[in-house]
Amino acid sequence: MTKAFRPVWFTILLAVTGAVLGLLLIDYISPFDLARPPNFFTKLHLQLLKGDPERCFAALDRNRVDYRRAEPEHLKNGCGYDDAANLQNSEIKYGSHIMLRCPALLGILLWERHVLMPAAEKHFGRKLVSVRHIGTYSCRSINRKKGERLSEHAYANAIDIAGFAIQGVPQITMERDWKDTAAKGRFLRDVRDGACRIFGVVLSPDHDPGHSNHFHLDMSFADICG
Ligand SMILES: [Zn+2]
Repeated sequence: MTKAFRPVWFTILLAVTGAVLGLLLIDYISPFDLARPPNFFTKLHLQLLKGDPERCFAALDRNRVDYRRAEPEHLKNGCGYDDAANLQNSEIKYGSHIMLRCPALLGILLWERHVLMPAAEKHFGRKLVSVRHIGTYSCRSINRKKGERLSEHAYANAIDIAGFAIQGVPQITMERDWKDTAAKGRFLRDVRDGACRIFGVVLSPDHDPGHSNHFHLDMSFADICG
């Protein structure tokens, strides 16, 4: 009998793929912990939670997030959501109301704790007080253009962020400070890069003129960091 020939690289590839899948499985079956900084599997873990709303809400409960579940909404034109939650309180303020699908809300809280707060300490040695968001759920097309497909905002799966307030520091705005070469600009670019470790899509002023005054963060199944 002739032995099937299997190149060494193929065996290594199989072993590496198996190891990665195994680690992903371990990460997924272990409870989602907001105290744990984002890792290689975080993005995929959040994507998997989109398919298991009860598991996602259980993660909010276990992490003592102050939220209220939103009544599902399904509009005829396709807008709506099943698994959204209203954030009631957090360690920082968000200016106005936040309602997001559960995995996107977990993403924002992870960003707040492991990216925004440490970045405020790193660049200013001060505490982050608030984030100014300018929209979550909105039944509209991409860039509000007629004929375009629905935006992730139409599924409560996206949030737009326009600025930050840090104790003792003049308000940081995306519009004014993105190109700053000092601490404010470095802070903004750092938090954009940190968001890319959590969200499927992150669009900053670097991406296109439509995002010159805000970050768009969404939890769609994609990998865009611009
Ligand atoms: Zn947006």
